[in-house]
Amino acid sequence: MYRERGGGSKSEMGQVDRKRINEALDKHLERSSPSTSKGMNGKAILTGKSKPAPDPRDSRSASLVDKKCSDAEESETDSEESDVSGSDGDDTSWISWFCNLRGNEFFCEVDDDYIQDDFNLCGLSSQVPYYDYALDLILDVESSHGDMFTEEQNELVESAAEMLYGLIHVRYILTTKGMAAMLEKYKNAEFGRCPRVYCCGQPCLPVGQMDIPRQNTVKIYCPKCEDIYTPRSRFQENIDGSYFGTTFPNLFLMTYGHLKPQKAAQSYVPRVFGFKVHK
Ligand SMILES: [Zn+2]
Repeated sequence: MYRERGGGSKSEMGQVDRKRINEALDKHLERSSPSTSKGMNGKAILTGKSKPAPDPRDSRSASLVDKKCSDAEESETDSEESDVSGSDGDDTSWISWFCNLRGNEFFCEVDDDYIQDDFNLCGLSSQVPYYDYALDLILDVESSHGDMFTEEQNELVESAAEMLYGLIHVRYILTTKGMAAMLEKYKNAEFGRCPRVYCCGQPCLPVGQMDIPRQNTVKIYCPKCEDIYTPRSRFQENIDGSYFGTTFPNLFLMTYGHLKPQKAAQSYVPRVFGFKVHK
């Protein structure tokens, strides 16, 4: 069972561990072949609920490389805050558990049906290491096989599951159902509000600057000033932008045209002693 699911104490991995996992995952991704799981002996299938798992928060943030923000991330290693925003019972699915983790508020829950349709996962097996194990973890596929992975392999599968979920998520939120799920979150301003004063608290939408994983972290897009900002929560700052993609907010506002606000009319004018500053 997950330590985290039971609301147990958070493992406090240091930066060293983060780096180690990150490097390990990088190595796997570099070798990136569809058959990254070949090296494993036997058919150990992971069940999310019966194995000791690494702290997913740490492995997730470790699995993300944001070149611009790496310095900021370094300084946050001594965080002692709990990562679990709610204690869940044993029957919580991996997906809802994952979406309820602190920092994962931007993710909507992807339908099992969507994930189980191979067509929707086309091409992902070559992008994600430990693909089969990661998929089983996401879908809570139980197994009678023993756990034959080392701790490090478990950590990699955890990271891989998070990455796989993200890559499924970016596709899902462009579907009718996914967009409807994101609409609910938008209505509740769960993606945060524009920090710009003249946007008057306009709710934002998540966006990625690139569609390639591990390049940038997620940003929020304000439909009013049509600019992007860093999310407020430093936990959200660690989320990969490609899990939301470059298309989502724009297609969303085309789909729900009535939600597109009027452009911001006012803008800030710099003044010195009441006089406009000459440029
Ligand atoms: Zn704005």
